[in-house]
This record gives sequence, C-alpha cells and structure tokens, in this order.
Amino acid sequence: MKVYFLGTGTSQGIPVIGSQHSVCKSQDPKDHRLRVSVWVEWDGFSFVVDCGPDFRQQMLTSGCQHIDAILFTHEHSDHTAGLDDIRPFFFRQGNIPIYAHQRVLKNLERRFDYIFETENRYPGAPGVTPIEVIDGKQLSFGEKFVEPIDAMHGNLQVFGYRFDAFAYLTDVKQISPVSVAKLQNLEVLVINALREEPHDTHFNLQEALDFIAVVRPKKAYLTHISHILGFHEEVQEKLPENVFLAYDNLTITI
Ligand SMILES: [Zn+2]
Repeated sequence: MKVYFLGTGTSQGIPVIGSQHSVCKSQDPKDHRLRVSVWVEWDGFSFVVDCGPDFRQQMLTSGCQHIDAILFTHEHSDHTAGLDDIRPFFFRQGNIPIYAHQRVLKNLERRFDYIFETENRYPGAPGVTPIEVIDGKQLSFGEKFVEPIDAMHGNLQVFGYRFDAFAYLTDVKQISPVSVAKLQNLEVLVINALREEPHDTHFNLQEALDFIAVVRPKKAYLTHISHILGFHEEVQEKLPENVFLAYDNLTITI
C-alpha cells in the first residue's frame, strides 16, 4: 500500500493569503501546506480521501491518473470544494464513485446541483455515483475492505477510514471507545493536530499525542496543521520518536 500526502494544511492552507507570519514566509517546502487530503493506492485500487480546493494542483503534482473512489470525511469546504475538478477523471472513466455520510451527500447535492442533475445535464458537467457510508458497515472493493471510523468534529460527525493496517482520521476532536477499538494493531495512524493552543473542533498537538498513546500504532503522522504550530523542522524535533509531522508530497509505503 502506498500513501501519498496530497495536502497537510488546515482550512486556509499555508501560506495564508496576505500573512506576514514567519512560517507563512518560510522557504522550507515542508512549511507549505495545501488543504488536507491523502491518496491511497492499495492492490490496484486508487482511493482519494476528500477533494478540497487544491484538488487540481494535487492531482497534477502527484501524477494521479485514475480514481476508483473518493471517500469524504465531512462536508466542510476545505474537504469538498474541489469536486468540480474531477472532470478529467470523469471524461476518462465515467461516473466517479463518491462515498460519504448521507448528510454529506445531501450537502454536496445542494452545493453542486449540476453534478447530481439527471435531466438536461450540461455536457461538460462531471458525474458521480454517490454511495452512502454507514457507521459499522465496511466498504468493499473487490476482496478489500475499508472500514469507516466514526468521530466528532465539535458538533459535526466525521468519518475517518481504515485500510488494513493504515488509518486516516482528520478534523477529529472527540472519538468514542467503540471507534478507538477499531484502531488496534495499526502500522500507521494519521491524525489531525492543529496547533499547540486548544481549539473547539480540532485536536491540538497534546490531544493528538494523547490519542496516539492510547491507539498505539507503530508510527503516527500528524496532519491538518496550522502555521501557528510552528516551523516543520522545529516541531518535528520535539515529537516522540514514532510520531512525525506529515508534509505535502510525503509518500509512505505500508
Ligand atoms: Zn478541515
């Protein structure tokens, strides 16, 4: 399994437009973060988790040529606003299967009504095949299974996804023991860590580290990072030896 970090930044991306913050002005490419997303290639299947406003650039940079499924975590724009840019994949492959909670599918249908239109479709509009994700029900792809992991982003439900020994969770603030039990024996866990200061709807760094200590994956990568967390190089030095800051275009093999 190959995991490619397409984006590792929080909602505004880093650099933030107009920001004079030293991290936003950093020359280190690891301090530049597009909106959060990951590409998972697993036994011939190609999954992209979320489809934010940087999707087009992420597909060009990563060289992704085929998508079997887009799995959505939730409906916030930093995770969904790039949906129109699936057009090149749609023109080559036909309807793109999109997996999401029913609430998220309804939200996308409202915001991207032309994509979901069944009559009098604009010829250039992309098409999707919506598939509802239900907590407790695995998604099957050939002989492979992807397990949704239910969590809370403040008052909003979100899904993370487990692919065999790899799990990807972002925009988490609370997670139930039932979901934690689904995260045993992981090689790699990806979890959000926004900044050091507490936040109402995101784990801060300490909460992410505490969560990692409970789940005990072999390795953990932090994502959905704010510029306020600090320079990549300096933050990395402070982390436990099996915890890493993810960065854009990082590729790991599991
Ligand atoms: Zn987000």
